[in-house]
Amino acid sequence: MRSAIVLGAGMAGVCAALHLRRRQWDVVVVDRLEPGRATSYGNAGIIQSEAAEPFAMPRDLASLLAIATGRSNDVHFHWASLPRHAPALLRYWWNSAPARHRVLAQGYASLISNAIATHEELMRGTNAAGLVRREGYRVFHRGAADMAQAIAEAERVRATYGVPFKALDPRALAVAEPALKDAGAGAIHWLAPWTVSNPGALMAAYADLLAREGGRFVHGAADSLTPAAAGGWRVETADGPVEAEHAVVALGPWSPELLRRFGYAVPMVRKRGYHRHYAGAALDLPLMDADNGYVMAPMADGLRITTGAELTAPDAPLTPVQLTRAEAAARGLLDFGAGVEAEPWTGVRPCMPDMLPLVGRAPRHPGLWLDFGHGHQGFTLGPATGLLLAQMMAGERPYVDPAPFRPERWCGAARAAA
Ligand SMILES: Cc1cc2nc3c(=O)[nH]c(=O)nc-3n(C[C@H](O)[C@H](O)[C@H](O)COP(=O)(O)OP(=O)(O)OC[C@H]3O[C@@H](n4cnc5c(N)ncnc54)[C@H](O)[C@@H]3O)c2cc1C
Repeated sequence: MRSAIVLGAGMAGVCAALHLRRRQWDVVVVDRLEPGRATSYGNAGIIQSEAAEPFAMPRDLASLLAIATGRSNDVHFHWASLPRHAPALLRYWWNSAPARHRVLAQGYASLISNAIATHEELMRGTNAAGLVRREGYRVFHRGAADMAQAIAEAERVRATYGVPFKALDPRALAVAEPALKDAGAGAIHWLAPWTVSNPGALMAAYADLLAREGGRFVHGAADSLTPAAAGGWRVETADGPVEAEHAVVALGPWSPELLRRFGYAVPMVRKRGYHRHYAGAALDLPLMDADNGYVMAPMADGLRITTGAELTAPDAPLTPVQLTRAEAAARGLLDFGAGVEAEPWTGVRPCMPDMLPLVGRAPRHPGLWLDFGHGHQGFTLGPATGLLLAQMMAGERPYVDPAPFRPERWCGAARAAA
């Protein structure tokens, strides 16, 4: 039987393991935490089938100035960390140019268009149906000019990728969301996405499915990965050393750290985000407040407000200024109670400078495979990239062209190889 160690039990790792297991591989998933307790736990829970184009960096002067001067709530910068981010950010900026972004979007759309189907296939084996709504989510706009521009942009996306939406005028939005105190200029209702009321519970359901299908989960340290003496790979776990023919790196934002030990210098834009729950809100579907860069989503633990991107050092203390601003803006739209947790949750979006995940073979290490860098949509894309990776590992014909996701793009040589 062919065998693999999957490092990382987030959406990427658990789904890759499930697809390998379904090909009769012997699979062990290794994580220092319980499955799905890191980034895949704290997101906005939207399976974003409408996000056919990856999240580009703004390039217009007005947006850049708003970010630089702290007027935008989309991005919060710690200036001291800028030198650390600059190399990856510059490449991100370059790849966000419209002509390049259009080409990259073709690859992204090929995966995103399979996001719902690949989730649905996995969900079929779980009891997660009650966690999921299939009615989309909304993007709220305050000004008429912004709303008109959003409609034009949504029409372009619909014409290009076939993604359905409905434009809601203020009256229609007020009917759809009667608890809103201000319907602004209305909202774009993306109709196809699914929304999950407890992302951690969906992760637990997928991990449980993996266990029922014969996969194994063990606690362990990914950074103990070494080539095994007998060939293949070895990792230290709470159950003792585990060896397998293949290893998969699915450590989300921690993946470059591990790969540096194997001589790969992988640039990543690490976008920290925050969330907090609030009691007593009566929102029907998740709502993104486009002017203030946050999402509020009705969840099992209350109204979850998630923030945009904070660029800071990985170990920097929490500075949830975006969350404070988001809460103030949200209170202008909706009545809700106090924060549920004393401290906000924080996690990091693992964004590649060309906005596409790395899926495939590590260039210089036989039997080492990569599945990370899902950026803003890893909760959406985990099953789609897991299927692609498993097909490549098993030598099957991939269901989408894997070329846009080849690891060689960002696996340059680090200075000291392990
Ligand atoms: C605020 C916010 C909102 C978001 N909203 C959405 C959304 O609505 N929809 C969407 O599609 N995406 C969303 N995302 C993005 C999405 O959450 C991520 O892209 C996705 O969760 C990444 O999954 P992953 O499996 O790659 O990483 P993770 O879920 O972080 O998994 C990596 C795993 O590796 C483990 N690990 C790391 N280092 C080690 C080590 N040394 N030893 C052992 N284990 C280790 C970690 O414990 C973790 O379990 C959001 C992200 C944020 C921050």
